[in-house]
Amino acid sequence: MLRATYNEEKGMWYLNGVKRFITNGDAQIKLVLARSEEGTTDGRGLSYFVHDQKWGGVKVRRIENKLGIKGSPTCELVFTNAPAKLVGERRLGLIKYVMSLMNGARLGVGAQSVGLSEAAYREALKYAHERAQFGKPIIQFPAVYEMLAVIKSKLQASRALLYETTRYVDLYKAYGFLAQERKLETEEKAEAKKYQKLADMLTPMLKLMSSEYCNQNAYDSLQIHGGSGFMKDYPIERIYRDARITTIYEGTSQLQVVAAQRYVTNGGYLGLMKEYASLPVRADYEQISKTIVEMTAQYEKAVELIAGKESDYIDFHARRLVEMASHIVMSYLLLIDAQRDSSYDNSLQIFVAKSKSWNDERYTYLKEFSPCQLSSFLAVKEETVPQA
Ligand SMILES: Cc1cc2nc3c(=O)[nH]c(=O)nc-3n(C[C@H](O)[C@H](O)[C@H](O)COP(=O)(O)OP(=O)(O)OC[C@H]3O[C@@H](n4cnc5c(N)ncnc54)[C@H](O)[C@@H]3O)c2cc1C
Repeated sequence: MLRATYNEEKGMWYLNGVKRFITNGDAQIKLVLARSEEGTTDGRGLSYFVHDQKWGGVKVRRIENKLGIKGSPTCELVFTNAPAKLVGERRLGLIKYVMSLMNGARLGVGAQSVGLSEAAYREALKYAHERAQFGKPIIQFPAVYEMLAVIKSKLQASRALLYETTRYVDLYKAYGFLAQERKLETEEKAEAKKYQKLADMLTPMLKLMSSEYCNQNAYDSLQIHGGSGFMKDYPIERIYRDARITTIYEGTSQLQVVAAQRYVTNGGYLGLMKEYASLPVRADYEQISKTIVEMTAQYEKAVELIAGKESDYIDFHARRLVEMASHIVMSYLLLIDAQRDSSYDNSLQIFVAKSKSWNDERYTYLKEFSPCQLSSFLAVKEETVPQA
């Protein structure tokens, strides 16, 4: 962590230390989190600073050699008495400013992931039409068209979640701008709070699911390319490598689960599902809507299974539960989309059927899991790497 010290005489902050993995670290203006409060060890001792390249003191020591996103320079920066100005208030660097920035960045990675899924789908579709085997285009084989249709359903599901999340972000931000012009009415304040909560709830879900889906989609798209997919001749090998970072930066998938799991235990996700369930449904979509409502009831029972359990036990099952919630939320969103536009219909049918089986598997695992089974997993902590 960088250290920031204030020079009373010069009325300026100075930064010292090293920062690794900084995207576009060679940029003119850098926003930097640094420890400004001596003797502190937690997030409350960190403040936010701005540094301008023209003030000097920052060197790009190395540009990382990466698996993917090679067009985006990832730098190791060395700060040596680099002048900087404080942004906002001291001590709020992490807990206020970076947290808010991070939510925006997670939304960005969510959108990046949807873009990668779209690219993976297009490449797979094109190749599956062009490539012939056993006298016919490979798209004619059930194994291939199933993969393609599932790629498309995950793509459309994650795009629906992206639009829903960004809609809530837009709404609460709009109230924020309005509040700068005039005092908000009580009702408006309540709405702004509601939309902010929905945005906070859906952002980690979006980051988790769309990044995992773009990796799965890139994997399946490469598989559809067969041996050609392994070669540098087709764009899919780059898409496959570029997708890999999305589950890592701006918080790994595991940390998205940590951010999302509170909405499993406090009923936030269930409340949202029930709101979707209360929307009117066209007669021709009643059957599929019933399936999603049943999945919601199963999710509610799954949450009851972990209620009151030790935090380690809840953490152990958290991803299962967040994924169950995500499948249901995306199913409802596709149901809404399909009723507006029939081009979503096939993806709705596929995604709901798949989600039902994914959730059945998770529910069965959770229901049949006894706390003493945890010891089989804990045993790995005692393992060491054998000496060569
Ligand atoms: C290409 C690239 C660009 C980047 N750009 C930037 C940038 O511009 N600015 C910036 O500040 N950072 C940047 N980063 C850093 C990036 O955000 C981190 O690498 C990422 O958040 C993961 O942190 P870590 O590498 O320290 O992994 P670790 O935190 O060490 O994680 C290692 C493993 O442990 C797991 N883990 C860790 N903590 C927990 C937990 N509490 N619960 C469960 N599992 C856990 C993780 O999920 C992961 O599987 C970049 C990284 C890369 C690779």
